[in-house]
Parts: sequence; C-alpha cells; structure tokens
Amino acid sequence: MNEKLNRRKLIVIGSGPAGLTAAIYAARAELKPLLFAGTTWGGQLMLTTEVGNFPGFPEDVMGPELMQRMLDQAKRFGAEVMLEDVTKVDFSKSLKKIFRGEEAYEAEAVIIATGAATRWLGLPSEKRLLGKGVSSCATCDGFFFKDKKVVVVGGGDSALEEATFLTKFASSVTVIHRRDELRASKIMQTRARENNKIDFVWDSEVFEVLGGEKVEGVKIKNLKTGGGKEVQTDGMFVAIGHIPNTDFLKESGVRLDEKGYALVDEKTQSHIEGVFISGDVHDHVYRQAITAAGMGCMAAIDAEKWLSGQEQAGEK
Ligand code: NAP
Repeated sequence: MNEKLNRRKLIVIGSGPAGLTAAIYAARAELKPLLFAGTTWGGQLMLTTEVGNFPGFPEDVMGPELMQRMLDQAKRFGAEVMLEDVTKVDFSKSLKKIFRGEEAYEAEAVIIATGAATRWLGLPSEKRLLGKGVSSCATCDGFFFKDKKVVVVGGGDSALEEATFLTKFASSVTVIHRRDELRASKIMQTRARENNKIDFVWDSEVFEVLGGEKVEGVKIKNLKTGGGKEVQTDGMFVAIGHIPNTDFLKESGVRLDEKGYALVDEKTQSHIEGVFISGDVHDHVYRQAITAAGMGCMAAIDAEKWLSGQEQAGEK
C-alpha cells in the first residue's frame, strides 16, 4: 500500500540549475516529477552573490534569487518538491528504488543532478577551525570579517570571486595560490588585480591553520624555494574547486570516473537504462549554471522519450 503511494514515473535528485530545469521540463511534459531537493536545496548558486553571466538578466541577479525563481517555476508546472536528502538508491530492477532513510520511493526513470561540493585542503587544523574562521562561503560568512584580515586559497574564478566579495568587509584580502599564474578568467583577474585591498602570494600552499578558539594565522610554504612563513589572518576562505556528490551512487551500478564524476553512456543516459545524469555531478569541464541547466533540460527530454518508448513497447 505504502509502496504504491510512493511510486512515481520520474524522480529527480538534486535542486541546482540542472535538477530544477529537469523538473521544469518534466513537469511541462506531464510526467509529474518528484524532486528530492535536499535539506539544503539550491546547490552552489545559493552560496554566490551576483551572477552576471546567466542569459536574460542584463542587470546581475543574486544566486539565491535565481534559484528561488527556478524552484517557483518548477512548482508552478506541478513538480512535487521534497526538501529531503536521498540516502541510498537501488537501480538493480527496472523499477528504481530511491530511499530517504527507511522510506523507499519507486520510479520508472530517475534523473541524477546532485552537483558537487566544496573541496577542502584536508588539513586537521582546517577541520578543527571550520566555522571558527575557516569557511568556504564568503557570502555566508564574509560579514563576520568586518575590518579584519582574511586569506583566500585558490587561483580560479571562485577564489577571485570570494576575494572580491570579501573586500566589502575585510581590511585586506590575501589570495594564496600554488602557482604563479591564475586559472581564473581574464575579467575576474582584472577585477581582482585592480582592487587595492587584494594582494597575492604566489607559488605557495597552506599547510597549517593557526589558532586555538579561532583562526589567528596560516603557515605557508613556498613550493619553488621550499621556504616557510606565517601569515597573520583572522580568516581563511578555501576556494579550490569541488568534489562530485556521488557517494550515494557507489553501490548503484552507475559508472563513475576516477574522480567520482558520474559517467553517461548515450546522450544523458547513464550505463543503466532509465537513469539519466545532468549538471556538475557529471560535468567537470564547463561547470556553469547555464550549462547545468542545459543538461537538465536534455536529461528531461531524454527521460521523457525513454519513458514513452517503454510505454509503447509495453502496449505491443
Ligand atoms: P577551478 O577552476 O578548478 O580552480 C580551482 C583552483 O584551486 C585552481 O587555481 C587550483 O590550482 C586550486 N587548487 C586545487 N586544488 C588545490 C589544492 N589542493 N591546494 C591548493 N590549491 C588548489 O575551480 P573554481 O574556481 O571553483 O571554478 C569552477 C568552475 O566554476 C570554473 O569553470 C569557473 O569558471 C566557474 N566559476 C565561474 C564563476 C563566474 O563566472 N562568476 C565564479 C565561480 C566559478 P591550479 O590552478 O594550480 O590547478
């Protein structure tokens, strides 16, 4: 009885631009999708400020506002949204099982759009001081560093975006990068280099975060000279990339690459029939809101075609 109540044609897992776009398309195709949005919904854009490169917003749009708009749009077309985390999946039978705790949901097709999460340096001192000056989200925590010194670790767009944002609060922002060349786009580099609150430490890595109750400094090592020194700081923001959220897929049969990104077989379909993949959980190259949204759209169209193919085959 319960099992039947929990049965759906399509379940979407994840609520970043990929998952929500998939839900919008699937809802408009009358698949009545159930979306597991996660307890912290919205994905990485919830942790950003102004988004200037999403088409249709000639003035910048705030990341969380963009996500709220996508969520509202998915709901308007009838997507059912649950703010719950999926804990396990079982794709061994044609009816796929999705678990949240002990409760199982069944679906004919599934779209996985669980995105990627912050990559940390992996230092014990970083873990110990997390929330006590160590952060990965300037938007969330920047406010606490008014007139304080902070460092940002990384050399990509995220690092420079965080650094630029932090200058609204901090007295100085030091970007520590492991090479002498930034990975970030030219526009972000120019903006950061022109900001007189930002300075750079090149060819260096942080190997210890200092402080008892809160961050007081970082120990860094110059990778070219081998020389070490301490930098006094009140906060460390880590912006060194992401790790795909695929832990829950490890036993599922969905193939993952060596870094854990979910692989597709044909178009957006994984190696398991009826299981589709979209967004940053697969894409480690483009990783943009617009490309994730595009792939969410593709996965929904592929899922819809696959479902109607299954239906037709069943009627014969
Ligand atoms: P990313 O482009 O992969 O850059 C990661 C940076 O962290 C690199 O500079 C890398 O150094 C460094 N790094 C990686 N592992 C490290 C470690 N263990 N220790 C020290 N440094 C380490 O990641 P991202 O900056 O998060 O950007 C991801 C994607 O999102 C990109 O496509 C980016 O364009 C996009 N994005 C766009 C915007 C925007 O347009 N507004 C904002 C944010 C992100 P190396 O350079 O030496 O590899």
